[in-house]
Amino acid sequence: MNKTPNDIFNFQATSDECVKCGKCIPVCTIHQVNADEVTSPRGFIELLGQYKQGNLELDKNAKNIFESCFLCTNCVDVCPNSLATDMVIEEVRADIADKFGIAWFKRIAFYLLEHRKVMDMVMKFGFMFKTCALAQDDKGRGLRARFSLPMVKKGRLLPSMSKVSFLNAYPQEIPAPIQEQKNIRVALFIGCLANYNYVGIGDSLVDILKELNIDIFIPKDQKCCGAPAYFTGAVDSVERMTKANIEYFESFMDECDAMLIPEATCSAMMKHDWQVFFKNHDMPDWEARAKKVGEKMHMATAWLDDNTELQNLLKEKGQFTTAVTYHDPCHARKVQGIYEQPRNLLKPNYPLVEMSDPNRCCGFGGVTMQTEKFHFAQAAGKPKAAMIKETKAHYVSAECSACRVQLSEAMNHAEVETIFKNPLELIAEALKVEKKS
Ligand code: SF4
Ligand code: SF4
Repeated sequence: MNKTPNDIFNFQATSDECVKCGKCIPVCTIHQVNADEVTSPRGFIELLGQYKQGNLELDKNAKNIFESCFLCTNCVDVCPNSLATDMVIEEVRADIADKFGIAWFKRIAFYLLEHRKVMDMVMKFGFMFKTCALAQDDKGRGLRARFSLPMVKKGRLLPSMSKVSFLNAYPQEIPAPIQEQKNIRVALFIGCLANYNYVGIGDSLVDILKELNIDIFIPKDQKCCGAPAYFTGAVDSVERMTKANIEYFESFMDECDAMLIPEATCSAMMKHDWQVFFKNHDMPDWEARAKKVGEKMHMATAWLDDNTELQNLLKEKGQFTTAVTYHDPCHARKVQGIYEQPRNLLKPNYPLVEMSDPNRCCGFGGVTMQTEKFHFAQAAGKPKAAMIKETKAHYVSAECSACRVQLSEAMNHAEVETIFKNPLELIAEALKVEKKS
């Protein structure tokens, strides 16, 4: 079941409504890799209720437990009462951040995500000197750590880096090739990983929109959607980034038919969690403003499939023999109900092979899971890598760069040869193929 921004829960109500049926336990990502009642949705809810009643101290042990949830929403999907365990955990993480502070490396990361110009310089510097610590993966899947770094073990696969970010590579306005009386005009929100690391996603989206004769607007002052900070409980950073983005988006949204987002996590954050955040922090005006700008936001494949002729255009093109398996990002399928549209756009040109459980969480889990608790992310990624291998597909695809980071490393660790591509990259490739005769 998809959660909606109106599904706001507080600790006590959530705890009282849990009927302890245990349906959530077998599907819980953390419970699958750490089979303990306290690291299960039912356990989290019980502890959160105790915390709210003053019977549980928020000590290091409790912090450790609450930081082990992947926020995958599998539990919400199966719970008969749709209890949003992830949302109450997001809230308690703000209390944890208040009490324990935020680790230095996360504070640096959130500062950079808020300050695009500084981030641009850091990424340029990183690109120039990357070979000191990182080696190019021989299959072109990313960069491999040459030696162990803080929180990154030797051999781990990290995202590739680009010399020029997507936002700096294009002009703000890209008019459609043929100007008609009223062209469709879309704004693009690119997301930080696609901006700096996986720039092929934005390039592909631009190519697809040109092919569809759509005017493109690239708002240069967009900031991070705030998801990494939100999942860590960094309330001040979230508030600054979301408010700055909303004010900026309001300045041009009326002149756009839609804002396309090629990233499941950014899209879920901006369409849903912004409203949840403002509601939980008692800012009704901002909640209404977030709702208004959110109405025009769409995940790119969903909007392209629902509103354009792209599927028909692809049907006119030839077929590749390279098979694709599609992974459903938690923030797309479970949070936004999107699963058919990317498949509809891949099927015309690629043999699609489903893995045994495309809906199983990849195990990315956020900044804390990818650093301090990487052993959990690694354990959660292992079965997914095995599932991908079983399909014998050449590509695994998902409209989410967080899934890409996690699955690329999981496959690297398990020596699976499959290559990750965002569906937009595969679709853009298919559009270049000659028409069927
Ligand atoms: S959000 Fe995912 S990891 Fe967290 S309790 Fe629910 S199922 Fe478990
Ligand atoms: S499925 Fe829902 S009601 Fe049942 S134990 Fe889990 S959280 Fe509680």
